[in-house]
Amino acid sequence: MRSRYWTLAKRPPPPWPDETTFALREAPIPAPGPGQALTRTIYVSLDPYQWGYKRRGEEPEGTPCHARTVSQVAASRIDGLAPGDFVFNTNGWAEYGLMGDGVPRPGYMVPRKLDPARGKISHAVGVLGMLGLTAFSGMVLQCEPKPGETVVVSAASGGVGQIAGQIARLKGCRVVGIAGREEKCRYVVEELGFSACVSRLSSSFAEDLKAACPGGVDVYFENVGGAVFEAVLPLFNPGARMTICGLIAHYGDAAGADAGAEETRRSEARGVRVQRLVVGNYAADWHDAFLAEMAPWVAAAKVRYREDIREGLEVIPTAFAEMLRGANFGKTLVRIAPDPTLT
Ligand code: NDP
Repeated sequence: MRSRYWTLAKRPPPPWPDETTFALREAPIPAPGPGQALTRTIYVSLDPYQWGYKRRGEEPEGTPCHARTVSQVAASRIDGLAPGDFVFNTNGWAEYGLMGDGVPRPGYMVPRKLDPARGKISHAVGVLGMLGLTAFSGMVLQCEPKPGETVVVSAASGGVGQIAGQIARLKGCRVVGIAGREEKCRYVVEELGFSACVSRLSSSFAEDLKAACPGGVDVYFENVGGAVFEAVLPLFNPGARMTICGLIAHYGDAAGADAGAEETRRSEARGVRVQRLVVGNYAADWHDAFLAEMAPWVAAAKVRYREDIREGLEVIPTAFAEMLRGANFGKTLVRIAPDPTLT
């Protein structure tokens, strides 16, 4: 019995990945030792930050590419965990992995058992996991939106953006999204309830954004940077707040370039309160409070959550490269084994 996994084929990696950047390998499936469980991966979460790990050389050579996963227990020597149970863990881009490997992880990355009766198991790597906490801590704790304010969210139909914008809407704000394709913009308005959404791909993008924010911008949730930031910058109102959650447009820039420092400097020069977001800083104190607020919102469909689920281990590199180019529509996942909770 062998487990297939993807690893980085080229070091250093190119600015942006393509299908040749990764190599498919296989290794014997390990037997769980005392205090360990063997788990079979069902869902692999693909996230832009994973490209940063690789470009900064943070992944040990030859190991499966890092990813948060949802898996099913195949064999267990952990008390309270039985074959067939579902778990959140970090198997990476791999068919199998061991829980109880002794690797220290921040709280929101610690493997845990999932209760499928409490919602979709895939949500553990998304709206009820690290992505939801990112949106919550950035929007609620850092930006402190007030009713009636205008809140702009970039990558608005993506994993974090869709949640961040809906939180602001629930807080009584007027929310304007920025997304790519028109289809995404329509979804953001019609399904997620944003007041407006403009396409960053339009030749009139900057004017469209200005027209969508006639009273200026009070809060900006930054996911992308580059031309999108340039369009938001002149619209900030006095006292505006911005969280720099991510800067995906710059993830292929030369190592060491800090677009966030430049955005911070230029925004602060306009009187904006800028905070950089590192979700791990909020995990210990806020994870339970976030779940207590988010889980009922999701259950009641007050927060809707779109997943872009691809099928099969083989497609992971393609799906990853496409996500970094904006071809995803919703939170990107790859299902590499059947999800028994769906049948
Ligand atoms: P998404 O699902 O939003 O996918 C990325 C999206 O970014 C694409 O769909 C595309 O949306 C947009 N995009 C891609 N390239 C560009 C570009 N060149 N210019 C503008 N937009 C682009 O990913 P996530 O929700 O997982 O992540 C969103 C952001 O949050 C990322 O920057 C990520 O690094 C960050 N993040 C930060 C965390 C933290 O702790 N600070 C934790 C987790 C995520 P479209 O085409 O619609 O514009």
